[in-house]
Amino acid sequence: MKSQARVVVIGGGAVGCSALYHLARLGWSDVALLERDELTAGSTWHAAGNCPNFSTSWSILKLQRYSTALYARLAQEVGYEINYHLTGSIRLAHTADRVDEFHHVLAQARAQGTEFELLSPAQIRQRHPFLELDGIRLGLWDPGDGDIDPAQLTQALAKGARDLGATIYRHTRVTGITALGSGGWRIHTPSGSIDAEYVINAAGYRGGEVAAMIGEYLPIVTLSHQYLLTEDIPALVERGDARVPLVRDPDVSYYLRQERHGLLLGPYESRGRAHWLEGLPEEFAHQLFADDLGRIESYIEAACARVPILGSVGVKRVINGPIPYAPDGNPLMGPSTIGRNFFHCCAFTFGIVQAGGAGRVIAEWLVNGEPDWDVWPLDRRRYLPFANRTYTLAKGLETYEHEYGVAYPQEERPAGRPAKSSPLHDRLRTQGAVFGARGGWERALYYRQAGDPAGPECSFRRPHWHRAVARECAAVASGVALLELPGFTKFEVTGAGAANWIDHMAAGPLPRIGRTALSYFCSPRGGIVSEMTVSHLAPGRFWLISAAAGELHDEHWLRSHLTQRHGPVDIINVTAHFGSLVLVGPRSRKLLSRVTDADLSNAAFPWLSVRSIAIGYTEALAMRVNYVGELGWELHVPSEHLLAVHGLLLAAGEPFELAHFGLYAMDSLRLEKCYRSWKADLTTEYTPLMAALDRFVRLDKTADFIGREALRREAATGPKERFVPLLVAAHDADAAAVSIVYRGDERVGLVTSGGYGYRLNRSIALAYVRSDLAAPGTELEVEILGERCRALVASEPLYDPQNLRLRA
Ligand SMILES: Cc1cc2nc3c(=O)[nH]c(=O)nc-3n(C[C@H](O)[C@H](O)[C@H](O)COP(=O)(O)OP(=O)(O)OC[C@H]3O[C@@H](n4cnc5c(N)ncnc54)[C@H](O)[C@@H]3O)c2cc1C
Repeated sequence: MKSQARVVVIGGGAVGCSALYHLARLGWSDVALLERDELTAGSTWHAAGNCPNFSTSWSILKLQRYSTALYARLAQEVGYEINYHLTGSIRLAHTADRVDEFHHVLAQARAQGTEFELLSPAQIRQRHPFLELDGIRLGLWDPGDGDIDPAQLTQALAKGARDLGATIYRHTRVTGITALGSGGWRIHTPSGSIDAEYVINAAGYRGGEVAAMIGEYLPIVTLSHQYLLTEDIPALVERGDARVPLVRDPDVSYYLRQERHGLLLGPYESRGRAHWLEGLPEEFAHQLFADDLGRIESYIEAACARVPILGSVGVKRVINGPIPYAPDGNPLMGPSTIGRNFFHCCAFTFGIVQAGGAGRVIAEWLVNGEPDWDVWPLDRRRYLPFANRTYTLAKGLETYEHEYGVAYPQEERPAGRPAKSSPLHDRLRTQGAVFGARGGWERALYYRQAGDPAGPECSFRRPHWHRAVARECAAVASGVALLELPGFTKFEVTGAGAANWIDHMAAGPLPRIGRTALSYFCSPRGGIVSEMTVSHLAPGRFWLISAAAGELHDEHWLRSHLTQRHGPVDIINVTAHFGSLVLVGPRSRKLLSRVTDADLSNAAFPWLSVRSIAIGYTEALAMRVNYVGELGWELHVPSEHLLAVHGLLLAAGEPFELAHFGLYAMDSLRLEKCYRSWKADLTTEYTPLMAALDRFVRLDKTADFIGREALRREAATGPKERFVPLLVAAHDADAAAVSIVYRGDERVGLVTSGGYGYRLNRSIALAYVRSDLAAPGTELEVEILGERCRALVASEPLYDPQNLRLRA
């Protein structure tokens, strides 16, 4: 074995081989792959090999779309035969919600350039002669779906990589990894060690074992998934080489496709099974679990009723194999939070169809420093440390059991909760709070009151709780209301070099002492990595506040760019030490002045300023900023005093009829102010100039911040797309993220978030549209659940354009 390589990929399944191939294609040929057994020995060899384009996730859709296009040309590209049957697939809808989901996904796919089709029952019959159609409303046709031989796919990728100079070592188990002083890694195997600048952990369900070698915990649980293969079915034999399309019946929860002249049936059953909770066996390669048909009996019966030829023959073989699950069922990709130049690319539940796209993304991450696509839903850093073994088991099983569930826009599933809650949790519950989890924290979504209508919590249309949200928005606009935001990410940055360092990280100007500023942190390409409020508390002392979900991501970004070049800088994550209360509304000053002696007047405490104010037995860090666009304060209170301070506010709030509001109201209010949301409206695929945040960027400032050159180039030509608010003539559903914006029949933009604004009584969408169509007054259309709705480009902010209420 050679002693050095630029990159070592650990794991020779479909994903590892794809990573190797894509690295080599990007010109990094000094790359090696270490596989403990034979290639495909993990989950790959026994996969059913289904390759849908369809996904309810925008990021996964991208990965899969890239893969299917790659697989269609791969055999020729690398000179290796692959059995790849493009049969197309039909997904069946039994319910109205499923039909809504199909409309939603169809538009997402179209926005990415993939055309799905909705089929009436009669059209389904034409494409699949053996399906019974009772109870079926319609079908979704994915013409690019099919099945591939996973082993051949892996070998083809391996050949392609080898041909470009990559090396593959089989029967070479990685037994340990040590960090080198030079910044690289030494990878130990029984046949010697190899030094690498970069490592990619593509060890599949053993991804956690590999991560543990550098002291990192990855949230992965191994479950079993099974499918059965039937004997030959005469009706299929008669059809010769003609194959029936793949069928997915998500409302029952199974897939069914032709395999040779038989059928292959795989259910996602309602009671999943976890394995190896006490640790993975040393030896398990090219092996399966024992058949467990009892678990899937009811699905077999349902599938036989739907496709009677299935029950006409016996079962030839059962495959019950290990499959890794992260809590949300998405892979774990991207940089390790522990070691530099160590990347994860594991825990794939659909790793055959995702291998192509995953290989591309991870290769770009190493070679270019970041992938072309923002893949936050797949980013390893989305999991905070609370996502431990217990959480992962509970959530992984829940995700498996809902694999085919309707992907509602706001679904709060119960497993793994409560993981983190504030001291106010029970008090808010007695006020009617209905909670959802954000970054593990239980946060109030809305407050139910006696007499409120009941109904399903989730829908693609406006659910019953919109009435509660309207009430909360009215209280914010006309009186005073309180929101608790536990887990708001907070970093204290201190030291003589702190000011200069932050100035080199953020695109905007550094706030003066006592002031707070919204700041954008960009990638070298100018994409928006993070949005934080930077508060300058004292000389050499700052607070940086960002989204709860971004805690690990933002800390990793900050620490990985930490230098002492400008003098000493220290970062402390103080997220858990402070609770956050948002007190807003025209009467908020009066209420707050009842609990503090601090001067809250405009002269002493103007908009965008920050002060420490005494409340009860503590000092709260009060910031005159908020995300809803009314007079108000964010109060960051030491956790041990939160209950007491909250109690004081409630007591003082009685004469003011202080109301509570939740995240749903906050989202509605922020849409009216056109405040962007991180990872919805702000991603690495958009720059601050595209996001119309020019006023927060100082291209000419002295500090040479990350992304400046790219932004300068963009400023010279002007961004191709521009962020705009749209007023939408919607009916009972608002525009969801990634809805398409049209001008006539031309696709001219994409919605990044949408909802209903109750202060304006308008349906709102925030979108990126072609720059020449960004002028207020431009008439466009947005597609919502299959219907084109008129959408007018408006000026931002939509509500209180002069910010008079914020400055009141
Ligand atoms: C029954 C079943 C059906 C499935 N059907 C489909 C399907 O139709 N479509 C689909 O997309 N997905 C399907 N999957 C999922 C799919 O099998 C996996 O997502 C995919 O194989 C994962 O590929 P991988 O390369 O990430 O991991 P793996 O294939 O598990 O590869 C990881 C490799 O790393 C090696 N390794 C581990 N530790 C070390 C070490 N210390 N040193 C060196 N090497 C190491 C292993 O030996 C292994 O070869 C199915 C899964 C099951 C169980």
